[in-house]
Amino acid sequence: MTRRVILAGGGHAHLAVLADWAARPLADTERWLVTSSRHTAYSGMLPGWLAGHYQASDLLIDLAPLAEQAGAKLVIADVAGLDPARQMLNLSSGEEVRFDLLSLATGGETDIARLAALGDRLLPVRPVGTFMERWSNFLGRQTPGSTIGIAIAGGGAAGVELALGAEAVVRRLFGTASISLVTPEAGFLSGHARQVRKLALAELARRNIAVHFAHAEGVDGGLRLSNGNFLPADCVIAATGSRPPRWLARSGLACNAAGFVSVGADLQSISHGAIFAAGDIIDRVDRRLERSGVHAVKAGPVLAANLRAALNGAVLRQYQPRRRTLYLLATGERRAIVSWGGLVAAGHWAWVIKDWIDRGFVKRYRWPQGHGGSRPKGEQGQ
Ligand SMILES: Cc1cc2nc3c(=O)[nH]c(=O)nc-3n(C[C@H](O)[C@H](O)[C@H](O)COP(=O)(O)OP(=O)(O)OC[C@H]3O[C@@H](n4cnc5c(N)ncnc54)[C@H](O)[C@@H]3O)c2cc1C
Repeated sequence: MTRRVILAGGGHAHLAVLADWAARPLADTERWLVTSSRHTAYSGMLPGWLAGHYQASDLLIDLAPLAEQAGAKLVIADVAGLDPARQMLNLSSGEEVRFDLLSLATGGETDIARLAALGDRLLPVRPVGTFMERWSNFLGRQTPGSTIGIAIAGGGAAGVELALGAEAVVRRLFGTASISLVTPEAGFLSGHARQVRKLALAELARRNIAVHFAHAEGVDGGLRLSNGNFLPADCVIAATGSRPPRWLARSGLACNAAGFVSVGADLQSISHGAIFAAGDIIDRVDRRLERSGVHAVKAGPVLAANLRAALNGAVLRQYQPRRRTLYLLATGERRAIVSWGGLVAAGHWAWVIKDWIDRGFVKRYRWPQGHGGSRPKGEQGQ
């Protein structure tokens, strides 16, 4: 009997599953990849793209050849609803699709609840493709010699890297810019060693990026800070962390209080055995796990093995992250900060390693391997 296996989301966590299917066909299955867009962006290279070191095609992976090689039907649509008891998925096209096995990795959405009043000035970092298009349009509208006010809301690794990347390109293109990073102090590179925070603060200061330790609220023309100050901004990049997709809350699938899918170490839903999940959409019930690309990517092969095991009634594997995770934070001038537990370093050499790792990752998922893939529509380098 043919069973239908659906992957929802074509991002970091599912790339390894597609590669697994391409390498070893999954017998007696009909495979689908349902995802918002044909190209998926490797987020680790986004700050480098912003800084002008990469073309869009360097970080975008074309899912069509990968899905074809995996024998999966590519459906470009958003998941809009889920009925886990009936094993049905609702798509934005209006279609209702039955599944025998479902894997959810649609990532998180940028939390813009406090920033929405900014209207067109607000650039949420997700979806990444939309962000890239809107940022290019924003730069295109600026005139040389003008002083541009840019604020980045969110002091996680993404916010810090984007602030430094934006500074590098805006200074090069327009000469002057007023760039600010707004974050609650507790959220500034939380989870990284004190020395990493110190290095990042020194780099932000050296590049004249003002850091405001405050909560930000979007108002007409800029940000109102919790310390009472007003920060004018032509553009606010929201890197404010992930919130779960809204359709999950209505689904009846077991989720944590914040609304992320509750899974065990085997990435299986704790309430519905036919559903697996990985990446930013999950909450591990057995341990705390950062939402990061590193874990989404490293969980991928375990997810691939467990989808096979679930079909065959075999024992599931567990994704157990290493004790320390390596992060390389791009600082916008072909330099990077290394953060690996308590080990901290910085320099051009760290950028060279990051560039090599990142390009290698994207190349691995270009199909046929090493092929450049199709050029995404509307690609714009800087
Ligand atoms: C600027 C930036 C820089 C980052 N840098 C790093 C880094 O250096 N290191 C690191 O470890 N982490 C980094 N991260 C975090 C990392 O990007 C995420 O943790 C990772 O992408 C999560 O992988 P995922 O597979 O869960 O989701 P994603 O990779 O976001 O993939 C989600 C996929 O689902 C699709 N999708 C979304 N909604 C739907 C829907 N409703 N229906 C169908 N498809 C949908 C999307 O189009 C996409 O293909 C960064 C994040 C940002 C924003």
